[in-house]
Amino acid sequence: MCGIVGYIGDKEKKEVILSGLKELEYRGYDSAGMAVMSDGKIDFFKAVGKLENLALKTKDFTSEGFGVAIGHTRWATHGKPTEINAHPHLGEHSFVVHNGIIENYKELKEELEAKGVSFLSQTDTEVIVHLFEENLKAIGEPFKAYEATVARLHGAYATLLITKTAPGKIFFAKDAAPLAIGKSEGKEVFFASSDAPLIGLAKEGCYLDDKSYGFVSIDEIAVFKDAKKISPSFAALPADKSYAQKEGYRFFMEKEIYEQSAVVSETLMGRVKEDAVGLENLTDEYLRNIDDIVICACGTSYHAALTSSYLFEGLADTRAKVEIASEFRYRRPKLNKNA
Ligand code: GLU
Repeated sequence: MCGIVGYIGDKEKKEVILSGLKELEYRGYDSAGMAVMSDGKIDFFKAVGKLENLALKTKDFTSEGFGVAIGHTRWATHGKPTEINAHPHLGEHSFVVHNGIIENYKELKEELEAKGVSFLSQTDTEVIVHLFEENLKAIGEPFKAYEATVARLHGAYATLLITKTAPGKIFFAKDAAPLAIGKSEGKEVFFASSDAPLIGLAKEGCYLDDKSYGFVSIDEIAVFKDAKKISPSFAALPADKSYAQKEGYRFFMEKEIYEQSAVVSETLMGRVKEDAVGLENLTDEYLRNIDDIVICACGTSYHAALTSSYLFEGLADTRAKVEIASEFRYRRPKLNKNA
């Protein structure tokens, strides 16, 4: 899972985007990019590899004064990790960044190509920007066109879009991928995939609900769900960055390794009884009826699950296997009734 950052305000936007993406680096990525809109013009930059490469590409670019910016670290799902496939993706006057997968991109792409739209990248993401621009031709009002675009997207997405047709605004949508908004006294608005880039910059933050979308300008944060306006609930963000960061460890994985004993103790808190662990919801009868265990996991948790599958087999004498979760969701797995 990679990262998204957005910004509206007066600060040097390039710096806000680069430092925000830096906070999300731990999530992994293969390329990065940003688009900055000010004074009716949009500049964009993309680079393969580390964020330093993007910093190098933007070293002569300045973006002081009021404007809006979107940034992205990509972990390729559709198309190789190349500069063309890096986000933002562009249409004639709009730019989009996206984390996740648009499951129905093929259908949308064919539809758009039949209307004469040409695609530059191999990504699923690019359909969003072209669909928006096609909808805008038909509907005429940018936010209504964005709303119609989001209604066609299926899959997992956190996405931001800027367009010359709505200067000073960022359009956003999210479903099954994280996206938070941060704000600071009506002077700045931020977007980020987690609160880490917001801490120290925004006073308050709000994690958006699945299927919410809307637009943000310096004086308005408009959030919609099921075509109805909803009030997002903002809460004060912690002032201390170490809360969301690595607390002195060099890597998140290292921090997680050293945290294990504390995490296991906290998890078992209140459940340790004399010389036994009491898990009330897991009754003996419930456990006796399980004849197969399937654990779905990704990355580090996949390896942890492999270890636990050996323990389940060895200690509980039960068949246990581990599946890569991102593949499992596309299958029609044959599971035993009591798995
Ligand atoms: N599916 C998109 C792509 O391959 C987004 C991947 C991501 O989450 O960074 O470009």
